[in-house]
Amino acid sequence: MEFRDLKKQYNIHKEEINQAIENTLTNANFIMGQNVMELESALADYVGTKHCITCGNGTDALQLALMTWNIGCGDVVFVPDFTFFSSGEVVSLCGATPVFVDIDKSTFNMNPEALECAIEEYEKSGQLSPKAIIAVDMFGQPADYERLCVIAKKHNLYLLEDGAQGLGGKIGNKMACSFGDIATTSFFPAKPLGCYGDGGAIFTDNDTYADILRSLRIHGKGHDKYDNIRIGMNSRLDTMQAAILKVKLGFLEEEIEACNKAAAYYTELLQDIVITPFVKEGVRSSWAQYTICVHSMGEREAIMKELKKRGIPSAVYYKKPMHRQVAFEGKMGMKAACPETDQICNVCLSLPMHAYLEKSDIEMVSNIIIEVLQ
Ligand SMILES: *Cc1c(COP(=O)(O)O)cnc(C)c1O
Repeated sequence: MEFRDLKKQYNIHKEEINQAIENTLTNANFIMGQNVMELESALADYVGTKHCITCGNGTDALQLALMTWNIGCGDVVFVPDFTFFSSGEVVSLCGATPVFVDIDKSTFNMNPEALECAIEEYEKSGQLSPKAIIAVDMFGQPADYERLCVIAKKHNLYLLEDGAQGLGGKIGNKMACSFGDIATTSFFPAKPLGCYGDGGAIFTDNDTYADILRSLRIHGKGHDKYDNIRIGMNSRLDTMQAAILKVKLGFLEEEIEACNKAAAYYTELLQDIVITPFVKEGVRSSWAQYTICVHSMGEREAIMKELKKRGIPSAVYYKKPMHRQVAFEGKMGMKAACPETDQICNVCLSLPMHAYLEKSDIEMVSNIIIEVLQ
């Protein structure tokens, strides 16, 4: 059993994908070829934003967004304490100060109340200036944008959606990666829409931001890349990856529906014995991960060991809260108390999840977990 079955996906869609790769080789326009523009337009349509700007990866996408807003030294950016390292890394990389905010453990997403407390503390202290919020769509469930948007507006902060895991999710009819002033995603192979290497994209409705982003990703270009009007990056999506993604975007909806069926079946089998993931009413997760919580670290170890013995992969996303990462020592704002994150890091466990899981796979995984816990 695979944690995320990219081989099966390829085998099913082999002909179309191979054709797209072959066409790219034939055209030999490997940087900013036609496929890049076509993919951007298809992604903007899918997500429902005016602009999509592709780039090198999901981390660069976040950094480019912060650069667009000139975030740097003396600025504070609020980031959930429970996320992949990138969400906080880019803040420090820009020279700003990340402040880690606790999550709501039922959704694994940033807790809006904890966020507002943190913002007010910084507004009172007056030493650094709060500039932006990075909200993460953890494991595929969009963050609580209804409340986050109100808080961002009230405190005059930019809102950045880190939708690296979120693409394909939605709140009502509004798609993930359309929330906030700017949203980003990643095409790392294991993400909901993955390419065959690194890739990322940025979404916005704002024409000014879109212009700046298109310049920043190609060395701060003006009229062309030899006319440089700002300090930028070299962060483009390869034409080859764009060609592959264009094919894969065509069956993303189908895959997300299959993941939702798989998730529902896991939950049916496991809900009486562990804490199964909770998705809010009217919200669709993209199921980047299916993550349960058990009762103790020992229980988690026992389950992982037994799964491994039977050839089933599982993973812990994430073992360490951001505020405990050595890299942020001396670089982050006030040592935040994040009790929910501290607790969840000890007991969360992600199970195999993808569109090609069989019912019998889900039964096998669930039965092993039930067996270990009995
Ligand atoms: C994967 C991920 C990223 C980084 O994406 P890359 O394409 O690997 O740079 C950023 N944020 C979150 C929440 C992620 O899961």
